[in-house]
Amino acid sequence: MVGGGLAGALLAWRLREASDRLRVEVLAGARATVDASAVSGGLVRGFEPDPAASAVAADSLAELRADARLREWSGYREIGSLYLTPSGADPAESVRTVAERLPGSAVLVNATRLRRGFGFRGLREDAVGVVERHAGYLSPARLRDRALDWAAANEVEVARTSVIAVRDGPAVRTSDGAERRYDAVVVAAGAWTPPLVEHGGTLRTKQIQYGVYRIALPDMGAFVDDDTGLYGRPWSEGTFLLGLGGDRWDVAPEAVEPDQALAGRVLDVVRRRFGVTARDPVPERVVASFDCYRSPAGLRLLPVDGRPGVFTFTGGSGGAAKTAVAASRAAASELLNTL
Ligand SMILES: Cc1cc2nc3c(=O)[nH]c(=O)nc-3n(C[C@H](O)[C@H](O)[C@H](O)COP(=O)(O)OP(=O)(O)OC[C@H]3O[C@@H](n4cnc5c(N)ncnc54)[C@H](O)[C@@H]3O)c2cc1C
Repeated sequence: MVGGGLAGALLAWRLREASDRLRVEVLAGARATVDASAVSGGLVRGFEPDPAASAVAADSLAELRADARLREWSGYREIGSLYLTPSGADPAESVRTVAERLPGSAVLVNATRLRRGFGFRGLREDAVGVVERHAGYLSPARLRDRALDWAAANEVEVARTSVIAVRDGPAVRTSDGAERRYDAVVVAAGAWTPPLVEHGGTLRTKQIQYGVYRIALPDMGAFVDDDTGLYGRPWSEGTFLLGLGGDRWDVAPEAVEPDQALAGRVLDVVRRRFGVTARDPVPERVVASFDCYRSPAGLRLLPVDGRPGVFTFTGGSGGAAKTAVAASRAAASELLNTL
């Protein structure tokens, strides 16, 4: 495994749990403190406008809620979630998908309920929201670290080694100049994946940014407003994590800089949407990071064309915290079928 972020860590854990005959190695690189998993907002819910994405997210959440070890590893907090769906979307199929996996969790709400119950302003009359009882947030960094600790305690070799090239064979060349051969190489290096594995140009990187603002949104748990692009969750007493979709594509992870204009726009949108102003217009902190995007979006194991035994496990597209538990289960089973 190349990469020990959330994706690589969970896949290593799944592989080891599925087979004790397999020798698994994680070459985790040296960037764990600055990767996407280290700073992710960790919002998790079952609903996504796309029913296929909803199935993976709801499977993940159902397994997480049912498994005391995963709850402890991830520090899951169940505070509920609201998703204001995009104009013209029909959320019914995704809501059914969630209901099959998390019975009684998701209900549809109309514009009146969104105004009265959540304080929304400026809504379309046909606005539809999905409220989920079983949703909230977790710590991707903690989940990643616990899975890697478990793997290391169960005969998975976890090394802070960086891979500088992925070769046919399959094999990898590491920063100390050594070449290591394997039956399969999975590149789960998040935003660092594209330069390691070309993959026909289907993988891109994108900056993701949020701020922590001194602001009170008393009726809100975790939320996404697909009309404005605003999302957030309570951060600590009196503060809220808030972000807006950005447009900085193909950024090199090392070149990411906070977009101060975007950080300011967040408060304009909150004022318009909820009629609320921050106690301090300057956020307590701005977190600017990145993720690997793929179209169609979603964390999946994919073979690399023309390179037998080489796979990628990335492409979470800003949302793998909510899908990684189920996606890693599927990826482990697909990989074991090829070995
Ligand atoms: C600011 C932000 C907020 C987010 N909020 C949410 C959210 O609320 N909900 C949600 O579902 N998702 C969210 N996400 C997305 C989610 O966190 C990511 O999709 C997920 O963490 C990606 O995990 P990963 O393992 O693919 O990548 P990463 O966490 O980036 O890990 C990649 C790893 O690869 C290693 N690596 C890199 N290069 C090499 C190399 N050459 N050799 C060896 N190892 C290497 C690095 O050390 C790193 O540890 C957010 C992301 C960001 C950035």
